[in-house]
Amino acid sequence: MNNLDNIINGLRENGIEFIENEPMSLYTSIKIGGKCDIIIFPKDEQELFFIIRLLKENSRNYIIIGRGTNTLFKDARISFPVISFKKGFRHIKEIDSPAEKKGNSKISLRVGSGVALPTVLNYAVKNCLSGCEFFFGIPGTLGGAVRMNAGSKESVAGNIVESIEIITKEGVKLNIEKKDLQFSYRNLDVNGVGEGYFITGVTLSLVRAARSKIADNINVFKERKLRQPLGEYSLGCIFKNPEGDSAGKIIEEIGFKGFSNGDAAVSNKHANFIINKGRASAEDILGLINNIQKTALLRKGIKLSTEIKII
Ligand SMILES: Cc1cc2nc3c(=O)[nH]c(=O)nc-3n(C[C@H](O)[C@H](O)[C@H](O)COP(=O)(O)OP(=O)(O)OC[C@H]3O[C@@H](n4cnc5c(N)ncnc54)[C@H](O)[C@@H]3O)c2cc1C
Repeated sequence: MNNLDNIINGLRENGIEFIENEPMSLYTSIKIGGKCDIIIFPKDEQELFFIIRLLKENSRNYIIIGRGTNTLFKDARISFPVISFKKGFRHIKEIDSPAEKKGNSKISLRVGSGVALPTVLNYAVKNCLSGCEFFFGIPGTLGGAVRMNAGSKESVAGNIVESIEIITKEGVKLNIEKKDLQFSYRNLDVNGVGEGYFITGVTLSLVRAARSKIADNINVFKERKLRQPLGEYSLGCIFKNPEGDSAGKIIEEIGFKGFSNGDAAVSNKHANFIINKGRASAEDILGLINNIQKTALLRKGIKLSTEIKII
């Protein structure tokens, strides 16, 4: 029996959901990606602990995804098991605020990493909680948003995170306070913990506010999102903004707005979005990315680096 068979048998015996030979295009917002050997859907920590042990025993590396809204899977077969947070870790619960916060309207919200950002925002609006209005129009999971420090110029996930719960790749559960979380531009490093950690839960620090005030705050983001191709298959912004500049503006200036490579096209609405017009391959997208990077360097001396994760 090979390692993959061992993993499959272990999952079956423990009733853990998985699918073999599954196209990753079904699990990403840009609808692109080759088939993976296996995608596994843990629904809670107990299942995740078991999966981590199984992967360790079978010496397999792995890939973690939330809703795949910032990840481009290449067209080739993916032989590492994919662990998806799409189907589990969905709790949302207000918890007692620490003593020093009581009386100043601060609320701690404990949220599972598999909860989609629109769901977190809906909960916040319904319960008059302010602080996460910038989640409007960002389609990922909370785990993905924290890992990517997602957001905009007004705020980023790291600003409202109080602590996170993780399970390391060795299978150790840790609660990490903010002081040990190094948030940077579209990235999170956890002090003393290497790569490959699973975020299972996030405690957000929000404040009570009038619903009308929250609605006003959301309107700022609503207006901005009207200028993005939200109905198209995309991964959001492809490139990081260089310090003090805008990647979208640079791409427009070098003449790539609306430019296509096969079915991959730079959006006419927002030049930092590359869209899949229907049948684009990862190769088409990567070709376009490469072409933009080379031209930006040649014509403007600017090195554009990607914000998305490429697997
Ligand atoms: C239309 C559109 C608009 C967007 N707008 C914005 C925007 O305004 N601002 C912005 O910052 N981003 C934006 N994005 C990008 C994206 O939505 C965010 O980065 C999002 O938070 C990623 O979440 P995800 O669950 O899809 O992550 P994925 O793409 O699935 O994963 C991203 C990274 O996080 C890791 N990861 C995911 N879940 C976990 C977990 N539970 N534990 C550990 N690691 C994990 C993955 O391994 C990967 O490295 C947009 C995307 C689209 C398609």
